[in-house]
Amino acid sequence: MALYGLALGSSESPKDWNTADHPDGLSLDRHELAHAVLHQMQPPDSDAPTLLIEGRAEAHSGMTSKKRAKFAAYSRLLWQFRTGAGPEQSYLSELTGPDWYRRVNAPVYSVGGALAEFLWQKHGVERFLNLYFACRPGQFASAVRTHLGVELEQLEAEFWTEVERLTKTDQQKK
Ligand SMILES: [Zn+2]
Repeated sequence: MALYGLALGSSESPKDWNTADHPDGLSLDRHELAHAVLHQMQPPDSDAPTLLIEGRAEAHSGMTSKKRAKFAAYSRLLWQFRTGAGPEQSYLSELTGPDWYRRVNAPVYSVGGALAEFLWQKHGVERFLNLYFACRPGQFASAVRTHLGVELEQLEAEFWTEVERLTKTDQQKK
């Protein structure tokens, strides 16, 4: 777990530091450490959606980009199947909306991980963090417009295009 600038990790080190002894390279310690590092920088009134909070930490967990993209695509598929949502409907609006803003559940990890990495690769870490710190409930789309200079619909379309591209790459590890 992570509390402010402290991260409490596993009771022993992994035998293989590269994989953290996990088939997908997932390290809970790296995830918690990522939270702790950001806790030291964030303003006290920071109120990001769990999609960005858990997503950013998950993007540092050690999994490959391809694996994260697969999880994100699968999560969206499940959502579409469960709700009857079409490809034109915004999963990111759902995951940053009132029902999901503070919820901690599988989609904020599986979509958030791929989204956080996409955001800082496309827009840079500084703009990503500006967005992260500026987000408030009910204002995700306007924060995206202000800090990234794009409409949420456009950002989302580009994100899912990148997710699809990544799921088809031969990437081994990143
Ligand atoms: Zn976490």
